[in-house]
Amino acid sequence: MKYVSTRDSKVSVNFTQALLEGIASDGGLFVPESWPWLDIEKLSKTENYADFAFQCLLPFVGEEALTSKLQDICREAFDFTIPLVPLKSQTAVLELFHGPTCAFKDVGARFLAGCMQKILGQYPSGKKNIVLVATSGDTGGAVAAAFYKKANIEVKVLFPARKISARQEKQLTAWGENVQAFAIEGNFDDCQAMVKQALVHQEFKTQINFISANSINLGRILPQMVYYAFASLQYQKQSHKLPGFIIPSGNLGNSLAAVWAWKLGFPIREIILATNANKSVLNYATTGNYKGLPTVSTLANAMDVGHPSNMERYLNLFNHEQFKNLVKVVSVEDVDIENAIRQGEKDWGQIWCPHTATAVWAREQEASSHWIIVATAHPAKFESIVEPLVKHEVAIPNELKEILKKPSQVIHLKPDLALLKKYF
Ligand SMILES: *Cc1c(COP(=O)(O)O)cnc(C)c1O
Repeated sequence: MKYVSTRDSKVSVNFTQALLEGIASDGGLFVPESWPWLDIEKLSKTENYADFAFQCLLPFVGEEALTSKLQDICREAFDFTIPLVPLKSQTAVLELFHGPTCAFKDVGARFLAGCMQKILGQYPSGKKNIVLVATSGDTGGAVAAAFYKKANIEVKVLFPARKISARQEKQLTAWGENVQAFAIEGNFDDCQAMVKQALVHQEFKTQINFISANSINLGRILPQMVYYAFASLQYQKQSHKLPGFIIPSGNLGNSLAAVWAWKLGFPIREIILATNANKSVLNYATTGNYKGLPTVSTLANAMDVGHPSNMERYLNLFNHEQFKNLVKVVSVEDVDIENAIRQGEKDWGQIWCPHTATAVWAREQEASSHWIIVATAHPAKFESIVEPLVKHEVAIPNELKEILKKPSQVIHLKPDLALLKKYF
């Protein structure tokens, strides 16, 4: 399988290169050059998640050296349950939050980490391998957990000091070993700027191999197709109907995976992108013109994105007409997020996280049936928002309990690359 840049189809790489480079040399994003044929009939009879993942992803890896390891990588990445739970009104919820950091990003991060370890073992660069990641929420935790104790790879997580929740901070600082967390005196943009400076710094290039683990990396997007594929077949088997997915969206990486699963021919009827008050994607759906906007802060903060990176992949795949034939966008204000959480137990028998609440609200606006609400995180991660609304404590899942028990280790720094450099 070849991957080409969204900006120039002559820029083409294989799977390994796409993972190592993260972004194409012309600044575009990698997309599959063509779509493989999958035996969906056979896949619908595969019940083991890791086997199912292996069959879906094999044509996308398509490189001798890595294919022999793919079965193991899938087994490691898909080692927690991803249940499709039926609710009332021909609606189900796909719970993506049973991984180590209780959010869907665990799936992509674990697959990427598994691939990276095998790739770096096969092609040692002689340099130090560092995953450098700036985070304002869930990404850093998922990446830290996924790369924890992976040999010959160090992880440096930068987060804005005092600007993330206590539990989110714990998920960044509880690791140790090959994972270091840095509390930066500044905001998320300062963290991001330090990462960007490091990546282009000439002095580092000779000694350090930086690995990008952000949500534009194909190694995170491709495995996310698997749960949409699996859930759509499962739903169809049970209801003899095609489901639509409603997906809480920010940078659009998770929803893009659903679109790609549809493209592969899995039984997906339509897709709703539930966004928060950040409206650039909604504006595109309405007008056909796409323009990034300044980011607005909301209760669903992992979706606070004014200029979603993966929009470039959508625009590469679809014109406006084609986009609208498959995708609908619903923007949800904070008051409606609060209402959906407040009413969740009464209306659906569920406690929703603020992100999932956008999808629930969007579901409630739809007259049609057969919807799968995608639950992107566990509500206990956002207890300071959720508990006052549901008026009781939210039970903490075991994965999170384990992390909360560990001691924190954090290095405080001013936003200055020269200070961070000492830790490389
Ligand atoms: C990252 C995140 C999202 C947004 O996913 P994108 O792939 O950026 O669209 C939604 N919900 C939660 C809980 C997240 O952590």
